[in-house]
Amino acid sequence: MNLLIRNILAVLPDGERVVDVCVSGERISAVDRVPEGFAADRTIDGSGRLLIPGLINAHCHAYMTVFRNCADDLTFNDWLFGRIAPMEDLLTGEDCYWSSKLACAEMLLTGTTAYYDMGMFMEEAAQAAVDTGIRAVLSRGLSGAPDGVDGPNPRLEQAVRLFENWKQYPTLSFMIAPHAPYSCTADYMKQAADTARRMGLGLSIHLSESASEMASIREQYGCTPIELADRCGLLTDRTVVAHCVYATDEDIALLKQRDTSVATNPISNMKLANGFAPVTKMLKAGVNVALGTDGSSSNNALNMFRDLACLTLIHKANEHDPLAVTAREAFLMATVNGARALCLDDLGVIREGAKADLVILDLDRPNMQPVNDPVASLCYSATGYETETVIVNGVPVVLNGKLSDTDMEEIYAHVRQTCERIGTVK
Ligand SMILES: [Zn+2]
Repeated sequence: MNLLIRNILAVLPDGERVVDVCVSGERISAVDRVPEGFAADRTIDGSGRLLIPGLINAHCHAYMTVFRNCADDLTFNDWLFGRIAPMEDLLTGEDCYWSSKLACAEMLLTGTTAYYDMGMFMEEAAQAAVDTGIRAVLSRGLSGAPDGVDGPNPRLEQAVRLFENWKQYPTLSFMIAPHAPYSCTADYMKQAADTARRMGLGLSIHLSESASEMASIREQYGCTPIELADRCGLLTDRTVVAHCVYATDEDIALLKQRDTSVATNPISNMKLANGFAPVTKMLKAGVNVALGTDGSSSNNALNMFRDLACLTLIHKANEHDPLAVTAREAFLMATVNGARALCLDDLGVIREGAKADLVILDLDRPNMQPVNDPVASLCYSATGYETETVIVNGVPVVLNGKLSDTDMEEIYAHVRQTCERIGTVK
């Protein structure tokens, strides 16, 4: 399909200006000029609108959307072990399909075109991503030890099978994801690292999220969670580490040395009262820092614009420095840095030859006027629901603010049924 977006203000690598953008197949074929003989199947009028690269959510748990607003105002351990884990045991694959579909819909409708997902029923999560048209980096969350009382741990095998079953889909890619050092044995983390290396896949893990994790890993292993992950072979240039709230200066140097990326999740970290990640220190050290929402039970929205705002605001306040994280840095973290963290080539930027994951925002809204600095408006003024058109891999999946081929009422009804069955509805 050939798309032509005419006369649109675009956020380009070298600044913002009004351009024409051509999309041919899955890639951007021209920026600034319409090649001779280009025949558009669909033309989008871009006047009064803003074109940005689709936002990339570098850390999420889509299946947890069903837990939105049912486990709030709790300590990290009470939240995870007291509330979330027992509810997870009640979920079926079908529950996770509808929950993930709701997550994908929310992300697309707020300008996210790609996301990283760590979950349980990942075959269903893959189906939800394909059905909504979003780009997804999928991983079966691994926990436990290589062998349990009932025999070998099946999760790594499920991760391998997920890759084999869905690898032909151009909008899906895969990572190997040991959940965390407090939920996996060191042997299991090593096995995960070996499997990723053998399969040529990237890795993702939660590290240094809470004070209790820091204390328990130090007591058990005599080191920080980041040092432990390195000993297990998990820190590579294709690894993205979620959180790093308690990363020490030595940890940050190690992350830089290994060229490992970090996904910071500012709202989740604040909500679970874990604190603020040392984002400015990591950026100064040259670590690739991307942005994530985390799951809906610790955020409680999968709307990257909220996280963009928090990312820029909290570090300014926390460090008494208005330049701590600028709007431009935050925007890069939500786009190109996310692409690099998730090993997504040619994404996160509007340029000729890049994959066509694009978002068009309506600027004809009171909160977006006047248009003085588009990037500042994305971080400080936008709500995400200015999203009008979303293109993923060259295919329009949101038009006029609505998802194509997706019945939202059907999704709400199924998710509601799950909530009633597991008893989360008040
Ligand atoms: Zn997480």
